[in-house]
Amino acid sequence: MPQESSRQPESKRVIVIGAGIVGLCTGLFLQRSGHSVAIVDPKSPGRSTSFGNAGTIAVGSVYPVSTPGTWKQVPGMLFDPAAALKLRWSYLPKMTPWLLRFLTSGMPSRVEQISRELALLNRDAVSAHEVLLKAYDINDIVKPTGWLKVYSTKAAFDKGAAERAVQTRLGFKVEIMGEDEIRQLEPGLAHKFLHGSFHPENAFVTSPAKLSDAYAEAFVKLGGTILAERVTRFEFDDVRPVRAVTDLGMHGADIFVICAGAWSNRLTQMLGTDVLLDTERGYHLNLNVEAGPGLRRPTVIGEQGFVLAPMQDGMRLTSGVELAGVDAPPDFRRIYNMLPHAKAALPGLGDEVTREWLGYRPSMPDSKPVIGRSPKFNNVFFGFGHGHIGLTLSARTGQLIDDLVSGRDLNIDLSPFRAERF
Ligand SMILES: Cc1cc2nc3c(=O)[nH]c(=O)nc-3n(C[C@H](O)[C@H](O)[C@H](O)COP(=O)(O)OP(=O)(O)OC[C@H]3O[C@@H](n4cnc5c(N)ncnc54)[C@H](O)[C@@H]3O)c2cc1C
Repeated sequence: MPQESSRQPESKRVIVIGAGIVGLCTGLFLQRSGHSVAIVDPKSPGRSTSFGNAGTIAVGSVYPVSTPGTWKQVPGMLFDPAAALKLRWSYLPKMTPWLLRFLTSGMPSRVEQISRELALLNRDAVSAHEVLLKAYDINDIVKPTGWLKVYSTKAAFDKGAAERAVQTRLGFKVEIMGEDEIRQLEPGLAHKFLHGSFHPENAFVTSPAKLSDAYAEAFVKLGGTILAERVTRFEFDDVRPVRAVTDLGMHGADIFVICAGAWSNRLTQMLGTDVLLDTERGYHLNLNVEAGPGLRRPTVIGEQGFVLAPMQDGMRLTSGVELAGVDAPPDFRRIYNMLPHAKAALPGLGDEVTREWLGYRPSMPDSKPVIGRSPKFNNVFFGFGHGHIGLTLSARTGQLIDDLVSGRDLNIDLSPFRAERF
């Protein structure tokens, strides 16, 4: 059923490049509006970065990654093998322009502004997913559990005060918790957590892979096409791109949408726009809970900054940011270093690791995505660069791109998310 609209948009042939959660949502919203959509990706839907995240639709996560104290972490990034934010030496020259912008995005005035701008997108994050969940009867994947952050010391808890203040100021719910309340919410946690915050508006995707599968299935049922091909270049007429060339064929379209995650810049460059996009790589380990109640919701262990998320296929431990580009081999040492801390936080956790995984958060230096029309071609749209909140904002991004392509009035100013802001 098409989205409500004052008029039906003219049906267009659309190619969405990338079948991560952002491309899937975008393709699905466009198909619902009556366009004829093909999503192109050599990987199966949702099996890249969108596979392995912590599963949180993190409505209140509007605080950027770079904050006023981040510059002090630079020596640690380079020299401390256990740092939460790690930069590989070999990648430093390539990363420097991004890194400089990243650090300036952490100035106090910028942090406040970025949070305000992200809040405009985030506040509709859950409701945008709900449109799809309700329309396609997807009932057992997304749960209204909220999420919890816990700390064993007051000093560590206090470090999150600025973020909590911004969240509260922007109207997101933050409930401060003490030892008893934490224990009531999560009886499986060790009894050392004395301080915490509960974020009740956040939802939990208990299997990001199943959510991608469900959206892909709905898309195909509506008549959409998924092509297992890699886009290698574009062909142009006198004024604009008219065909995407892949490793297996050529596909003409009226509209092209780039949702290729951390690889998006390779495609935007082919379309005349260089975007300051890089990747904040992130790892996960999958474990089983062997004793005790486990967890009911994703829980951040504040001191070390890792997340334990009780997924349908096991307890997922996610942690850290590694700045090393999309081509460097994985280095699982830091996530394995977290294992003893994870066991100390959740004593029922078993020892056996059933999966180790690396993903590529597509990240702009200011933690804001790129959403909107290409500055070069009016038939090209961008939806990428969502960093730590791509699952969160995937459905909202799809709605907005659909509104743009379908010529509807937007109820939001997208200029803070334009590609050419750096
Ligand atoms: C450890 C970790 C934890 C996270 N936790 C959360 C969380 O709790 N909540 C949250 O909101 N976000 C979280 N994220 C972030 C989130 O996972 C990402 O922002 C999101 O998955 C990005 O989705 P995407 O569709 O943009 O990219 P991807 O899922 O990476 O998809 C991009 C796709 O584009 C395809 N592609 C690339 N080049 C081409 C080409 N030339 N032709 C065709 N296809 C191409 C790729 O094959 C890929 O499938 C986490 C990330 C990590 C790493």
